[in-house]
Amino acid sequence: MERPEIWLSFAPELHLFVASRRRAAPTAVRTDGASTLGHLVESLGVPLTEVGSLLADGRPVGDAHIPGHGERIAVHGVTRPQPSAAPLRFLLDVHLGTLARRLRLLGIDAAYENPDIGDAALAARSAAERRVMLSRDRGLLHRRELWAGAYVYSHRPDEQLRDVLSRFAPPLAPWSRCTTCNGTLRSVAKTSVRDQLRDGTERSYDAFAQCTACGQAYWRGAHHASLDAIVADAVREFGGGRTPGAGPDGADRTAAAT
Ligand SMILES: [Zn+2]
Repeated sequence: MERPEIWLSFAPELHLFVASRRRAAPTAVRTDGASTLGHLVESLGVPLTEVGSLLADGRPVGDAHIPGHGERIAVHGVTRPQPSAAPLRFLLDVHLGTLARRLRLLGIDAAYENPDIGDAALAARSAAERRVMLSRDRGLLHRRELWAGAYVYSHRPDEQLRDVLSRFAPPLAPWSRCTTCNGTLRSVAKTSVRDQLRDGTERSYDAFAQCTACGQAYWRGAHHASLDAIVADAVREFGGGRTPGAGPDGADRTAAAT
């Protein structure tokens, strides 16, 4: 029996994943008659994390649909903002350290593994903690164990941040999370972090916060302007957060979020 032939077209935002000959117009694919549409789409290079709606001859279908001969399949990208089934938490791979610190600066829960623990362990942590895996590694995003995942489209941290904020629209709470370890911050009296302060810092600043997880002290320091700009840009464009300076005061004394 002849294998079914179907016709596939991909939305422009998915073109980077597929062979160039499949980008311009619908192209034919021979199937085995038993494979699901999800499997076929993945086998052509597109992580299912990046797939929104699937249409078969104009009808919405799921990725378990088994396409029949002659069907015309349209593969769309995810809608933005993308709905989430649980409070938004992220897990970032080893290449996205700057993005992790910037998300934390905005108060977004962003776990980050460095050194690299490997794809299997990352996928297991994503599943165990219901975290959205952020990566530029398509192989990692193909892993079945992931609770959820998202491809990070740019290699530039400022574009990566806009990509994640526009895709997931997480609530923003600037200056509420430790950029070093992802713990939450609480306001503290100067006396409780005095042992972490140099003389000049102790004299010059009055508003302090401390990480509830690692104990790191935070205050408004010399690097505040650049971090303020990141926060102000994010709040202006994506809203939902408090205005800069309204939360527990303090810039990262190590200027990690650069
Ligand atoms: Zn910390």
